Amino acid sequence: MEKKQEFATQSRVVDSDVVILGAGASGIAAAISAARAGLRTTLVDAGPMPGGELISGMAVDGALNGRGEWILGGVGRDVFAECQRLGGYVGPLNDHRLIWYVCLDPEVMKLAVAGTLAKAGVKLLLHTVATHIDVEDGRVGALHVLNKEGRSELRAPLFIDCSGDADIVAAAGGKVLKGGPGGELQPVSLMFRMSGVETAPLLEFMREHPEHFALGESEAIRQGRTDRQLAEAAMKQGQPSVFLKGNGPLVSAAIARGELYPTALIMIQPTAPQRGEVCLNTTRMGGIDGTRTAELSASLATLTDQVWQCSEFMRNNVPGFARAAFSGIASRVGVRETLRIDGEKSLTEEDVLEARKRDDGIAKGSHHVDIHQSGTGQIRIPVKDGGSYDIPWGCLLPKGVVNVAAAGRILSADRGAHGSARVMGPCLAMGQAVGTASAMLLRSGGARPAFAALDVQALRTQLKKDGAVLDGTH
Ligand SMILES: Cc1cc2nc3c(=O)[nH]c(=O)nc-3n(C[C@H](O)[C@H](O)[C@H](O)COP(=O)(O)OP(=O)(O)OC[C@H]3O[C@@H](n4cnc5c(N)ncnc54)[C@H](O)[C@@H]3O)c2cc1C
Repeated sequence: MEKKQEFATQSRVVDSDVVILGAGASGIAAAISAARAGLRTTLVDAGPMPGGELISGMAVDGALNGRGEWILGGVGRDVFAECQRLGGYVGPLNDHRLIWYVCLDPEVMKLAVAGTLAKAGVKLLLHTVATHIDVEDGRVGALHVLNKEGRSELRAPLFIDCSGDADIVAAAGGKVLKGGPGGELQPVSLMFRMSGVETAPLLEFMREHPEHFALGESEAIRQGRTDRQLAEAAMKQGQPSVFLKGNGPLVSAAIARGELYPTALIMIQPTAPQRGEVCLNTTRMGGIDGTRTAELSASLATLTDQVWQCSEFMRNNVPGFARAAFSGIASRVGVRETLRIDGEKSLTEEDVLEARKRDDGIAKGSHHVDIHQSGTGQIRIPVKDGGSYDIPWGCLLPKGVVNVAAAGRILSADRGAHGSARVMGPCLAMGQAVGTASAMLLRSGGARPAFAALDVQALRTQLKKDGAVLDGTH
């Protein structure tokens, strides 16, 4: 008779104070803050490397507002500082389109993230897939995981869902929402990098031909300046930080000739000036559901074709790229949107666009409402006066689930607000908030802790002590 034989038969129970699922931007910030506060912290990820999109080459949005003021402090800034200490580029730049962002060297960032987690004392479980939970009356008792060694049951009084897909919340019976009203999702993309880029000819090209570039889409950035004046200001920054627009003459002609796939933008952002390296954020494929593994895996072939098409296009058409070489892709296809939680509070598009401040805010965002669509479409609506908005604590508390908090792109928000708060600045800040909240809850005692019972003003006070930016008119 045929016998079923598992590769590994280990089955063990591991106790922690808090278990965090997902080692992207929100999960690493949650883990660092919880471990620094003394919690036995376990951080689980299916992938081989912590950091998520922080180590993909893309710039961090929502760390400064549209006026260039920092709205991210605390753990997120500590990780940036560690990257810089190790010699990695960390460049807050004005993109002269809508916003400010922070460009980073993704290779040094890998070292900075891993080192900061280790120094904080986080127990990292990579190559490990979470499969199911034990749950009773909205209280999760254990997260079950599977890896090469076999199965483990990770027990803890508190859990944090930073999975990007709300896996724990959904399994615990919390309501989740998917994409737009018809279930539509933003396209997936693959980031790639080119090195040996010459900055001066690229910037000169932008100054002479601003019609090809996205410039001054928000008044807070434009401040009455012409495209030519904006291009000159961008030149003075001295970095290859420019955006070729999909409906500009250069890119649209290439799309019409079939030399390029339809795209809204070719975003060019520096990652390592010493290598003349930039990251290009431009490829896209619509109609992919990032929670369907076969679909997501199959998108890789289309996206790598687009990477190659675009790097050829850049070499042949864009000054500064003639001698540039393809230098790498992100380690995973980037998924912008899948599920988000239905929380005790929900961030609205109006909160974002009006730069609304809240007395229960535990993180800030400033990115425009940014909803990529298939092909050349992209919705971009800036925040009023280049300011920032507050994310209420209740946006991280899934309704009906007691001892699980959420952070990152699964926050409770309407689709427009999600288009803004999903970026990495707010993800890092939300992560710090849930990690800190876990430590405060466990310190205050009680056998059955509940995130909703925490005094939000006490949480805000602690977060500010730990460097978070929560007050002010930013
Ligand atoms: C193509 C693209 C371009 C973007 N551009 C920008 C930009 O320019 N600037 C910016 O700031 N933001 C940008 N964003 C948005 C931002 O990068 C993400 O929203 C953010 O990084 C999400 O972080 P997160 O921690 O919520 O989730 P994620 O980074 O998605 O992390 C979730 C983690 O959970 C793990 N996981 C999930 N389920 C399981 C399971 N069952 N078992 C084990 N592990 C699991 C996954 O492996 C993953 O590592 C972009 C996103 C994409 C995809």
